[in-house]
Order: sequence, then C-alpha cells, then structure tokens
Amino acid sequence: MKDRIERLMNCMEEQKTDAVLVTDGCNMRYLSGFSGETGYLYISGKRKVILTDSRYTTQAKEESREFEVQEISQSAGYQELIGALMRADEIRSLGFEDQVMIYADAMKLQKGLPRAEWKGLRGALDELRLIKSEEELACIARAEQIGDEAFSHILNVLHAGMTELEVAVELESYMKRNGASALAFDTIAASGIHSAMPHATPSGKKLENGDFLTMDYGCKYKGYCSDMTRTVVIGKADSRQREIYQVVLEAQQAALAVIREGITGAEVDRVARDRIRDAGYGEYFGHGLGHSVGLFIHEEPRLSPSGHTVLKKGMTETVEPGIYIPGVGGVRIEDLVEVTQEGYRNLTSSPKQLIEIS
Ligand code: ZN
Ligand code: ZN
Repeated sequence: MKDRIERLMNCMEEQKTDAVLVTDGCNMRYLSGFSGETGYLYISGKRKVILTDSRYTTQAKEESREFEVQEISQSAGYQELIGALMRADEIRSLGFEDQVMIYADAMKLQKGLPRAEWKGLRGALDELRLIKSEEELACIARAEQIGDEAFSHILNVLHAGMTELEVAVELESYMKRNGASALAFDTIAASGIHSAMPHATPSGKKLENGDFLTMDYGCKYKGYCSDMTRTVVIGKADSRQREIYQVVLEAQQAALAVIREGITGAEVDRVARDRIRDAGYGEYFGHGLGHSVGLFIHEEPRLSPSGHTVLKKGMTETVEPGIYIPGVGGVRIEDLVEVTQEGYRNLTSSPKQLIEIS
C-alpha cells in the first residue's frame, strides 16, 4: 500500500489539493485495503482515515492497519468527523470524485463542511490503478483461470432443453464452489435469437438444436475480476453460423497479433473492426473491442474507436469482438490479456475453435 499512497500524494500535488475524500469502493480498496461497502477515506499530507459505521469498523481495522478508523454514529455523522479533520489539518482545498459522489451528498457536505475549495478530480484516482502490479495480475489471472475451469465444466453439462437461467446458475455455482468469492458481473447466457443482444439477460428459454449460445461471465478472486466469453452451437452449426464464427475469431486473432506496449486502444480496435467490416458484417459490431479489468469489471483504458490511451506493460485488456444479427443470433469471443513489452500474455486458455454440443 505504501507505493500507492506515495503515488496518491504525487497526484494530490498535481491536482493542487491538500486532502482527498475517496468515495469510490474500488479506489477505497486500492488505497487502503478496506473492502467494506460503505465509508469514506480521508487522506491529507498529515493523516489517513477510514470513516465508516459500526457494521464495518472491526473489518476496517483488520484490513487497513496503516489507517486510523473513525466510527460514524448517530452523534457524530461523517460531516462532523470530516469537518473536524479538515479543521485540524487546515485544509484549504479538498479533492473529491465528482464522477462518483452522489449529488445530494456533495450538496450536503459542501454546506456542512468548513470553507474549502472543492476540486473535482475526474478520473485522476482511477488512473492510479491503470497499471497492475505483479500481485494484482496474479489475482486477475487466478480469477480468469476459475472462469476457464467453469467453461470446461459447462461443456459437460450443456444439452438441448436446458434453460439459459440453468446455464447461468451452473457457471456461477461452479465458480463459487471453486475459489471465487463473488461474481464480477451478472452472467450472460443468451441462446438463439437472444444471442443477437450483446448484453441479454438469461431467461427461461430452452436451448434448442441450431442455437448459438453465448456465455459471458466472470468472478472475483481477492477482489479482482475476471471476464471471458465463449459462444458454442447447440447441435450442428450451419454454414452461415460457421462463417460468422470464423469472422469473429479471425478479427480477435488479428487484434491480438498487434496488441503490445506502445499501441493505442483505437489502433487495436481498428484492426478487428476492419476485419469484420471487410467480411461484410460491419454494421453488426456496435460495441468497443475491449476494456481493462481490475478491481472493477470495466476499467480504463478501453480498446475502442475513441481509446487514445497508449497501452503500457502491466495493463490488462479484454479483446472481445462480436457480430450480432437481429432475428438471427450472435457470436462473441472474449479473452483477457496482460499487455507486455513485446505483445501480450493471454490469461484465458479455453479453446476457441467452434464447439458443437451434441
Ligand atoms: Zn465479458
Ligand atoms: Zn468484457
């Protein structure tokens, strides 16, 4: 945590702010280790404090030994506690996460706290998390491995007649029984024409022969997320399904071939997008090619037409092209990689050739 706090101090200097109030759960965890659901971090040049209520004080003390823990109670609300800290530290400017803090809370705090300049930090604190440490990468890799194992498992379970919800539950329970502490996001299991919706919600629809089945899922390991997608065919694939699948797979492979330190997210996105467009499916690939993954499931930088961040060693990216044809179905293939100097390390190892479930 020490180097993280040091980088935060540099960030505070750049932002010309005497103290910061952290409200985003992932930033709180990154800077302090505290994994509770509710609370604030107050960090100035003089002190580091976690403000939380009695449900979390014991946990905060255990998880964040370098932080002082102050309990929010009926008699001393967070406004009083933060106010006292600001007065003691003579804070003249307070940095806050203007993209995260709830408007009503900001209004209440601005009224109740000692006079100070409020500085919106935009995504400055998120930027501290762009490059993952070895330790973080190990957690992400383990989470992704659990996803890979869940895929091997589901291949033995899938059959026509099973519902999308049953597929989702099976993946989820497998991951939780095998090392995951939580899901990284709501599992997607979309079959037949549902697979044409990139973020379809699993339903009671039964898998039928001839359906594409797209499974997009991830879990958490020590707070870190995984994310992967595989699409299979129930029964025999027809020639059109084979063609669509092949285009998506080639687009993904083309993007993977160029990913490395020094390239921008937009450049990687373009390689996959061009491949899909050249095959005649350009209008059916609407979303960005990928995103970073860490404590949060969708982190910066993105692989997308507007992704101008230059990739650096130690960043993670998903590479997830797709083709979605309304009324017909869709295919997405998603791997999660770690960016290296020369290229990438693929954290996903599940097979990518078209699998037909007999
Ligand atoms: Zn995904
Ligand atoms: Zn993703």
